[in-house]
Amino acid sequence: MPQATTTRSGRMQPAGSRLIKFFFGEELPFVSHGRGVFVYDTDGRRYLDGCSGAVTANLGHSDPEILRALHEQAERITFAHRGTFHSEQSEALAERLGAMTGYPYVFLCNSGSEAVETALRLTLQYWRERGEPNRSQFASHAVSYHGATLGGLSLSGHPQRRRVAEALLHEFNELTPPYAYRFAEGRDDAEFTELLVNHTAEVLDAHGPAAAGVVVEPVGGAAGGAITPPDGYLQALAGLCRERGLPLIADEVMTGMGRTGMMLASQHWDVRPDLVVLGKGMGAGYAPVSAVLVSEEIIDAIAAGTASVTNGHTYGGNPLGSAVALAVLEAIESRGLVANAAERGKQLRAGLEALARRHEVIGEVRGLGLLQGLELVSDRVARSPGAPIGSLTRAATFAARDQGLLVYPATGGINNAILVAPPLTVTAEEIDLLLELLDASFTSLTSEES
Ligand code: PLP
Repeated sequence: MPQATTTRSGRMQPAGSRLIKFFFGEELPFVSHGRGVFVYDTDGRRYLDGCSGAVTANLGHSDPEILRALHEQAERITFAHRGTFHSEQSEALAERLGAMTGYPYVFLCNSGSEAVETALRLTLQYWRERGEPNRSQFASHAVSYHGATLGGLSLSGHPQRRRVAEALLHEFNELTPPYAYRFAEGRDDAEFTELLVNHTAEVLDAHGPAAAGVVVEPVGGAAGGAITPPDGYLQALAGLCRERGLPLIADEVMTGMGRTGMMLASQHWDVRPDLVVLGKGMGAGYAPVSAVLVSEEIIDAIAAGTASVTNGHTYGGNPLGSAVALAVLEAIESRGLVANAAERGKQLRAGLEALARRHEVIGEVRGLGLLQGLELVSDRVARSPGAPIGSLTRAATFAARDQGLLVYPATGGINNAILVAPPLTVTAEEIDLLLELLDASFTSLTSEES
């Protein structure tokens, strides 16, 4: 039986460790179980999962097909190291993923952050194999989120999450973000795109022979709330990278796997990045699994050089995660979930715009498919985020939870925003219910404030 101890400062420490939670001291419900788009807590309260957890549970909860695949694989074998054995499940996953996205190579990891790091390392290796080892400077958006590891945070324009690790981070997050609501200053889409691309060119010029690549979220997620670029921007950026021979890396951890109404968000603009990072919806909440999709040019350079990729993670490409991700891909295809995301996304968008006409606190509605964001403001004309920044986001998230609706707080310390991103399996009736609950949340939020 573990004994209570006394700490160095003389405080009594109860036996056993206590879990470090998200926000110290915050009262959160305990989760019990999930069914479809609904999650239940241990007090029996039901919540409509309007954000798929963290834009992850793309098939909803307790999906029988995925549970069957998980169970069958678990009974065969759950772990074998990829340095010792090939895995049929991982081979099948790579083949299916390649067929659904058009990439010839796939590297498997466990989390979005690991996959982002892998994409950076593969790019560094690409340059090294080509005899340019000094290319190590990446460029990313000043409002962005690319993960909690040091490379991912170095790319991230997310002051709140960077703060604690700043001493070890690079300042890769220099590019003006395609965030028209705050940065276009009256320019139309074409003028704003020109400004963005010119600024990117200046940053790359400054990097000179150290420039290694450009990393972007095609639609920005966790840092600013579904920041959707003007049409033409991603194509122009891809053109600029091509001109300069620099790899374009799309971080589609949040936007990939059909979330925006296309398998990859880059496909909305007919752009094929050199590397694509996937996570979240790949395991859809049933297993931690992520990937980097790799184009021919990157692989060819490595194949012609050392012909090996030695870095990886212990659990990367484990048979259980691969079997789950394969079942998720099969479900996406056989149930037409990419098309459903596009259809239900239109319904959701129309409903959110109607809410914005009724609730002054909604400054902008933006996003693609089932990745929609609401920017929240204390003064719509001045576009003021209110003070302190983040408080409106928090209030809206809690108001929604009180109504039995989960939304994702998507603010990095520069604005207030929430993501509305239900599972891709959502029905028309469930979207109607989501909108009703959100309407009630904003009504209660406004009446609390006045
Ligand atoms: N990249 C993007 C675009 C993300 O949204 C996230 C997580 O929110 C990550 C990377 C990091 O993924 P993970 O939390 O699985 O490490």
